[in-house]
Amino acid sequence: MRSGGRVILVGAGPGDPELLTLKAVRALREADVVLHDDLVAWEILAFARPVARRIAVGKRGGCQSTPQAFIEQLMLREARAGHVVVRLKGGDPFVFGRGGEEIAALHAAGIAVEVIPGVTSGLAAPAAIGIPVTHRALAHGVALVTGHSADGDGTPPDWDALVRSRLTLVIYMGMAGADAIRASLLAAGMKGSMPVAVISNATRAEQASIVATLDTFVEAARAGRLRSPAIIVVGDAVGLASVDLAHGMPAIPTRAVM
Ligand code: SAH
Repeated sequence: MRSGGRVILVGAGPGDPELLTLKAVRALREADVVLHDDLVAWEILAFARPVARRIAVGKRGGCQSTPQAFIEQLMLREARAGHVVVRLKGGDPFVFGRGGEEIAALHAAGIAVEVIPGVTSGLAAPAAIGIPVTHRALAHGVALVTGHSADGDGTPPDWDALVRSRLTLVIYMGMAGADAIRASLLAAGMKGSMPVAVISNATRAEQASIVATLDTFVEAARAGRLRSPAIIVVGDAVGLASVDLAHGMPAIPTRAVM
């Protein structure tokens, strides 16, 4: 193995290049190879040197992805060849990013790894429309959960416990299973009048959002043609969403908080 080879696991943030960290930019400038998710914008990849090889791995939500084992093999091969490998992931690499699996594979192979956190879409998306995910009067905390299992793939989150917790719920990968998520939350006793926001393509030029209620958000998101990638935010603090901060007017105005 040539010396100097290593992997830097980098969070690219939610989309807006200005939400990259200085460390992420430094890592990109150092990279010989950039393995990036499809969600990462070209403006961000442009920080890498022209000679750096850019390799897209993985596909947009729902489609078949590059097999994880293949990505890990590619990282190992490039690092063993003495290259500085940047593994660039949307948002934060450790929030629904499989960063944990990649770190384990690299450690097992004795490859040096650095992790650079990123602004996760689950925090950037509510912020983009003025929703404070915690609030002294309305939300004592926030839970980041996956909605992916709601469409039948994997173990679902414990919706009963989440509803009881009264935390703001930030749901990733929830669009395909939005109906099932609504049904689970209602079954767990959440009121149909609970404010719910859906923000798609947060912090990008195509950002769109709606603010509705648990009863109405699925139809509102459909009417607003909101598509993946999108974040669903559920909780009383959603009632504070500001239309002025959004790129577009919410399709349905916020109803009164219970
Ligand atoms: N590691 C990423 C999440 C990867 S899972 C992060 O920390 O943000 C992919 C999911 O992230 C999508 O299904 C969507 O729910 C969410 N997502 C990623 N980028 C987004 C964006 N710009 N706007 C809204 N949701 C986004």
